[in-house]
Amino acid sequence: MKILVFEKKNLIIFIALTLIIIVSAFYYFYNISSNNTKIIPVANEEKLVNNENNNTIFLTDEIKKKFATLSKNTEKVAYLTFDDGPTKRATPKILEILDEENIKASFFVIGKYVNKHPEIVKREYESGHYIANHGYNHNNSILYKNDESFISEIQQTDSEIAKAIGVENYCSHIFRFPNGFMSANYHNKKRHSVELLKSLDYIYVDWNCLNKDSESKLSQYQLLNNLKRSSKNKGTLIVLMHDTNDVNDTTAVLKDSILYLKKQGYTFKNFYDLLK
Ligand SMILES: [Zn+2]
Repeated sequence: MKILVFEKKNLIIFIALTLIIIVSAFYYFYNISSNNTKIIPVANEEKLVNNENNNTIFLTDEIKKKFATLSKNTEKVAYLTFDDGPTKRATPKILEILDEENIKASFFVIGKYVNKHPEIVKREYESGHYIANHGYNHNNSILYKNDESFISEIQQTDSEIAKAIGVENYCSHIFRFPNGFMSANYHNKKRHSVELLKSLDYIYVDWNCLNKDSESKLSQYQLLNNLKRSSKNKGTLIVLMHDTNDVNDTTAVLKDSILYLKKQGYTFKNFYDLLK
């Protein structure tokens, strides 16, 4: 009898341990799979939505190569990019012009302004423009404070975009450093941040053409002339402009800039075309 009691005790302990192991294993695998699940990207187009369960990285080497070699392409394609918005002053007017000209562009939005004007970002997204990430505060001392801060600036911005456009877990996968990667300031920090971007399945994109609309007060003629000079003898253009109208009235020269590029034989694409 004593032996039987002992065995019953053992049986209870055995069952209890088995249950603990099963529950622990469940939590372990559940966490592993949620950590490895890459954030569902972008996606006006279904093909850009990752399969949440296959743990694949969205930015393949092939896609990364397309971006890395973009500015050296000889093909006459212009990627219009607008930084630092959304703003009420400039973005709606820019969207209107892009619609008239049937052009899809890419917007590098600032998280705190997405929070302020989500309806503008929703309109950008629904019109087929690409919503890319320009950080939450556009403030280098916050952005480069430490790794956590850099990552949080990116993720907070994505989460504001997600709320604005109604796409859960939105990840833009494309970042632009404030002032660009190529500018000299914070260079070491930026080099280090490229590794952080990789860990988030992100790449960064600079530009190879600009009208200097954010630098100093210029006439419309000068802005257009800057674009002409900056695009001269180039193939593919990644054009930097700003949808802020802070320093210059970008909206006033946009139409003429587009007409000029069209006349030069350019067609227009946005980042969605490179993610296919
Ligand atoms: Zn900027």
